[in-house]
Amino acid sequence: MGVTSNDTPSANRLHIGVFGKTNSGKSSFINAFTGQEVSIVADVAGTTTDPVYKAMEIHPLGPCTIIDTAGFDDESILGAQRVERAKLAADKTDLAVIVFAADEAGNVGDGLGAINENKEQELWENRLQEELKWYRFFKEKHTPVLFVINKTDVADPKPLYDYLKNKTGEEALLVSTRTKEGMTQVKEALARKVPENFGERLITGDLVGENDLVMLVMPQDIQAPKGRLILPQVQTTRELLDKKCLIMSVTTDKLEPALATLAKPPKLIITDSQVFGYVYEHKPKESMLTSFSVLFAAYKGDLPYYVEGAKKIDTLTEQSHVLIAECCTHAPLSEDIGREKIPRMLRKRFGENLTIDNVSGTDFPEDLSGYDLVIQCGACMFNRKYVMSRIDRAKRQSVPMTNYGVVIAHLTGILDQVVMP
Ligand code: SF4
Repeated sequence: MGVTSNDTPSANRLHIGVFGKTNSGKSSFINAFTGQEVSIVADVAGTTTDPVYKAMEIHPLGPCTIIDTAGFDDESILGAQRVERAKLAADKTDLAVIVFAADEAGNVGDGLGAINENKEQELWENRLQEELKWYRFFKEKHTPVLFVINKTDVADPKPLYDYLKNKTGEEALLVSTRTKEGMTQVKEALARKVPENFGERLITGDLVGENDLVMLVMPQDIQAPKGRLILPQVQTTRELLDKKCLIMSVTTDKLEPALATLAKPPKLIITDSQVFGYVYEHKPKESMLTSFSVLFAAYKGDLPYYVEGAKKIDTLTEQSHVLIAECCTHAPLSEDIGREKIPRMLRKRFGENLTIDNVSGTDFPEDLSGYDLVIQCGACMFNRKYVMSRIDRAKRQSVPMTNYGVVIAHLTGILDQVVMP
């Protein structure tokens, strides 16, 4: 069976976030640009409530997730919440499109005289401050931005184009979603703005190559979903197959029998972090050891920051506050790694009164300053941009951050023995 773009995990797709004022035409822009109905389009302000995430294949960009967000200016009851969700979408955005309407600045030069014209201009310039604020937000995050001026069939886009060029140096693209004019140029401009090396990162880096034997230790315990493997295991296996590695997969209890059948030890053993200590004790000394979670720490996040964060554990006390963030929202299971195992390991070391908060899904506090350490799961369900947004938040507030695999390796005393890509 062939592999379609729908098989690309969401976290690996190019996330294109589309932002703009309520009903500035951004939803119809998305529909015109993708050739598909992504959003509900209406003339009523506030139609796009929660961001809509839609996976699609767009030539020449490849597998993308298009995010249609709530309007910046939404003042309905849920406005604050909608803006909050737009912020979350912005954190996940690899490439931002800010849509303006040409008629926003279309009244300049209406013949009412210089004073009125100046006032008019001041008014529409003020109305654009929200867009410019978001532009600066993206720039600070090194997220490429494309300005699009829509509705060029109803108003002269020049005043707006000149203003934006003058303020930001960005050259806006002129489009009309009604006539479809400019859509090809939008795709070409987006393709030019795709962040360099996007999608080229390897999970296993250069740790192994063709013909190297890699052993995967994957306990299928109560936490493992029934009848399937979890995403980090699937993606790592796929990458190793692409690299033409030789792969041997075992459950923990079959590690020793499997090793006994081999003429030479595996070059690399990748284990589930939960059995790090056991695998370390039983592995051949020639085999390098790492975990799925450590590999994903580098793939999705900032491994050096995570290692530094794990070492901060040694400075914790019983009065410390720790935040554990798990991206999946499944109901807690017995022996759950984030709610049971890691807290137990920490409390054993620092005392029963250690305060540990758990969050899941996209819940991640804006204010981290009350925490002495943040421990993040492997985050395989999120895109790298979003995980890096979390790390940036922790860095800005000088809060150490680490992830499950790195912290378990540290607490097991084998962090120095673990190889990292
Ligand atoms: S997102 Fe986090 S909790 Fe969910 S499977 Fe991936 S590593 Fe585990």
